[in-house]
Amino acid sequence: MRAAPETSALPRRPDERPRRDPLAALGAFLQQKGLKHSRQRQAIAQIFFDMGGHVPVDALVARVREQDPRVSVATVYRTMKLLAECGLAVPRRFGEGQTRYEPADHHHGDAHDHLICTACGAIVEFESERITALQRRLARRHGFEVERRRVELYGRCAGCRGAAAKEPA
Ligand SMILES: [Zn+2]
Ligand SMILES: [Zn+2]
Repeated sequence: MRAAPETSALPRRPDERPRRDPLAALGAFLQQKGLKHSRQRQAIAQIFFDMGGHVPVDALVARVREQDPRVSVATVYRTMKLLAECGLAVPRRFGEGQTRYEPADHHHGDAHDHLICTACGAIVEFESERITALQRRLARRHGFEVERRRVELYGRCAGCRGAAAKEPA
């Protein structure tokens, strides 16, 4: 894996994400599991990928039902679970909030982290090679093999801090 420079600790833009064809990948996964790649599942997945970012399930349900009111909440949940199982979406829960899903991207996988504003709920992504290196070192020292990583920093975003954000720290 290519090491990202430390400057990548800047917020990532969604358009920098490498694109796979997620719908084709989902189709292959469903076929492999002997499940039907139904039109509803396809539509849900498409809407999810179009929304991008960190999508709360109820927001996804609302968006899906704008297009097709017959889709059940359970179908949306099941579809998102399938997307997570096949590695196309990553479930996230920030604080006490509800489950959100974000599109997995295949270079970074789980290796990006989040800043979460406790006032407005804004979510900012960052990547840090240093955190990754520290994680490796810590794991090695304690004889761990890391399976998942969750680094979440809670606080108030620049917008919510208003003028205070402009003053030097
Ligand atoms: Zn905020
Ligand atoms: Zn994220």
